[in-house]
Amino acid sequence: MVDVNTLVRENVLRLTPYSCARDEFKGNNGVFLDANENPYGNLNRYPDPYQKDLKAAISKYKGIAEENIFLGNGSDEIIDLCFRVFCNPGEDKVLTFTPTYGMYEVSAAVNNITVIKIPLNDRFQIDLPDVKTQLTDKNLKLIFICSPNNPTGNSMNYSDVEYIIRSFNGIVIIDEAYIDFSDQASFIKMIEKYPNLIVMQTFSKAFGLAAVRVGMAFMNSSVIQYFNKLKPPYNISTINQIAALRKLAGTTQVEKQVAVIRKERERVINALKKMKITEKIYPTDANFVLIKVKESTAVYNSLVSKKIIIRNRHSVAENCLRITIGKKSENDSLLKALNTIRL
Ligand code: PMP
Repeated sequence: MVDVNTLVRENVLRLTPYSCARDEFKGNNGVFLDANENPYGNLNRYPDPYQKDLKAAISKYKGIAEENIFLGNGSDEIIDLCFRVFCNPGEDKVLTFTPTYGMYEVSAAVNNITVIKIPLNDRFQIDLPDVKTQLTDKNLKLIFICSPNNPTGNSMNYSDVEYIIRSFNGIVIIDEAYIDFSDQASFIKMIEKYPNLIVMQTFSKAFGLAAVRVGMAFMNSSVIQYFNKLKPPYNISTINQIAALRKLAGTTQVEKQVAVIRKERERVINALKKMKITEKIYPTDANFVLIKVKESTAVYNSLVSKKIIIRNRHSVAENCLRITIGKKSENDSLLKALNTIRL
């Protein structure tokens, strides 16, 4: 079993975090003259730095203890923190499986960390023999696994992922941003078994709160302390905490929307199958579908001219387009426009 503390950067171990007024006095009632706030108004007080109410609601919904939950200003902040907690700039490496979500590479570059990219195979799955040769690299600190994967849409084979977590003496981050659209089991409960596992989810997709910027990370409580040390003290605004809390008070609506999106996904895929421009439709567990066409740039430009915006992923997957599943009327507009394209 990996001792995660030995993976944390030396300066992070030594760091004395900023102590804010809200760290010292934890009560809600009192005369607050401790934080140089303006006494007037509704949003005049600093937010709860540890988002206790929101974590309690997430804990109840997900069945994960509060002490295992870390919240970031979107998952993107959590990705950056993973680098800052574990990776020594100019020295350490991370592993990704490509094509995948672009922020892992951008965050690596920001933190001056080398990225090892292993291409997914022709079914967009991980080839374990390619991984095994990398696992012994002493400078390899993090492995990012996106499942369901963006932009391919598929989930990674569960036992392959578990093999990597078990065999790696570093941190494995499973990005489950799209898990609510999938029938595949989440790895969230595995954090008790594997201290080197971090599972990320987000309020931006199924929960419909991309504007709110709340990302979740589930991990062993011994690891969370380092994330709390490094994060800006008030990384989630009060408004955003309230927005996420309100959403959690009405999860039936979230579940209904997910069901509608999944049904629409099937309808869009069936319609795409019948089109001449479609060369391949990749299996998807997400709220988008990746398709291969003859000339993705021509299709993309034609749609843009009709004010329909999809994502041209040609630079990472040849002639592939990533289509987000929208409302029925939006999907109808897309399908209608695609039907008029002649290549
Ligand atoms: N992970 C994946 C796989 C994503 O596709 C995205 C956004 N497109 C994110 C994380 C970012 O999520 P957030 O909005 O929580 O920063």
